[in-house]
Amino acid sequence: VAPSTSNFLRQAIDADLRNNKFAGKRWQRPPATAQSLLEAPPDGARIRTRFPPEPNGFLHIGHAKSIWLNFGLAKEYDGICHLRFDDTNPEKEEQAYVDAIIDAVHWLGYDWNVDGQSHLFFASDYFDVMFEFACKLIEAGHAYVDEQSPEQMRESRGTLTSPGRNSPWRDRPAAESLERFTQMRAGQHPNGSLALRARIDMQSPNMNMRDPVIYRIRHAPHHRTADKWCIYPMYAWAHPIEDALEGITHSICTLEFEDQRPFYDWTLETLADIGCLSRPLPRQYEFARLNVSYVVTSKRKLLQLVKEGHVSGWDDPRMPTLAGLRRRGYTPQALKLFCERTGVSKSNSRIDYSLLDQALRDSQDPVAPRAVAILDPVKLVITNWPEHEEILCTAPRHPHIPEAGQREFPFAREVWIEREDFEEVPPKKYFRLFPGNMVRLKYAYVVKCTGCVKDEQGNVTEVHAEYLPDTRSGTPGADSVKVKGTVTWVSARHATPVKLQLYDRLFREAYPDAGDADFLEHLNPDSVRTVQGWLEPGTDLKAGIWQFERLGYFAYDSIDSTPENPVINRVTTLRDTWAT
Ligand code: ATP
Ligand code: MG
Ligand code: MG
Repeated sequence: VAPSTSNFLRQAIDADLRNNKFAGKRWQRPPATAQSLLEAPPDGARIRTRFPPEPNGFLHIGHAKSIWLNFGLAKEYDGICHLRFDDTNPEKEEQAYVDAIIDAVHWLGYDWNVDGQSHLFFASDYFDVMFEFACKLIEAGHAYVDEQSPEQMRESRGTLTSPGRNSPWRDRPAAESLERFTQMRAGQHPNGSLALRARIDMQSPNMNMRDPVIYRIRHAPHHRTADKWCIYPMYAWAHPIEDALEGITHSICTLEFEDQRPFYDWTLETLADIGCLSRPLPRQYEFARLNVSYVVTSKRKLLQLVKEGHVSGWDDPRMPTLAGLRRRGYTPQALKLFCERTGVSKSNSRIDYSLLDQALRDSQDPVAPRAVAILDPVKLVITNWPEHEEILCTAPRHPHIPEAGQREFPFAREVWIEREDFEEVPPKKYFRLFPGNMVRLKYAYVVKCTGCVKDEQGNVTEVHAEYLPDTRSGTPGADSVKVKGTVTWVSARHATPVKLQLYDRLFREAYPDAGDADFLEHLNPDSVRTVQGWLEPGTDLKAGIWQFERLGYFAYDSIDSTPENPVINRVTTLRDTWAT
């Protein structure tokens, strides 16, 4: 499923291509120096997008939207999408997150290898170039080393309603700033003592243009550059440079970055003016982030759920991470369909989680093989069926795909049925088993309920019925007796025992992090229920997503399962049964 046909991003790309904007655009990968960048060969007129995660956590459903959009647009326009790790924040980043992100993007079905070339990048590979650019910026009078304390800087920055004040270090000679900047790099100053700032306009109505910090001191090892650096570029400055070095044409980000765009453009234009970058320059476009109900998608909060043990890990099947969704059984197709249906817009909105379930159903219903499972079993004894006799019943593997053929499973004297399919005293409009009533055991016989057996506490331990010999499914007599209820079953002697995990929402509030209360207060204490059930014999659980008749879509949990004890997750029910 490609990004939807009419959105503002497509219109922008169409216009750029019409104007031949990127013909002869130069780029290099990865650029060793600013000089080699300028000498790099032309690269044709392809559009280039990028997905730029920070490796400080696992990807979540919101990232799926960005991946789908960036990789999807590139594919659609025969362009290239880069996977770029925005690893400029050493304290929070880890190689393990890099690996998990690569895994998730691959799983979604996207590839950064195009025409035999990899387009996997790390911002940290550009640290040398960024440092060189910063020096040139200082030399040209566009940046200075500020020696105010962070508090002084914050205070003199002003507010939305009051202008900022110039730093006393703002007009120092370039040579002096350069010397200080070199000392910063050499590790001669502690964290927070000095900072490199862009020299723009302390009176700007846009706070982001009031001499933003572009380099800060951080004595912290980096997961890729180790101890090489103790100064790191700020995201807002690093990002446009990363885009430009990679020849990104359309830099797509979420709406919060809209008022960063003037600084994005300032950085690129200024660096192009002093010969560090070549035109045409990348352009930033903003779209509304995906907000999904009943989950949280802030990485900080997801990390908190993991660290504090509210879930079993980043890949807990209740988590909105791609690893969690995958383990639960949501498919790449369902996620892409969900992204497509939720659209690309310029205004923020909230999307109900049930749309994801509907996308899973709509993509699986036409393909998922069918089987019978019993989640809450009670035994049904067919008292007039001979003790040792068994017959084979047949059913379609898929009701709309005759070519898929038939499956076979035995019918015998004792079968498991759902406990809720029997009522000693039936409520109104109850058509399933109760004494005196007849139902069809699906794919088998019509049976007439004759009663039940109870234990001392009054719990039903067995339901009894008699079968009607002429009514076997698929025989001429099948319709001779009309019944209103159909009940699924599995032969007790043949069924496979299975552990099933049934999920509810992780939070009870639609927007757990919207109010004043701590989001953890809204955790649903009953978000997972584990039951021991029975499965139609011969069901190959690892083959993919199954539709268990009447119950929903289920997936094999490869992490919780052992060869002897399979565990299956319910991805979603057949209909939206969540109370609203
Ligand atoms: P978080 O705020 O959860 O930490 P982030 O946006 O900081 O997430 P990044 O790793 O920087 O995480 O995100 C990589 C890309 O994914 C960015 O381009 C970002 O705009 C995009 N993205 C993140 N969350 C969403 C979302 N909810 N909807 C759409 N795009 C998103
Ligand atoms: Mg980010
Ligand atoms: Mg963030």
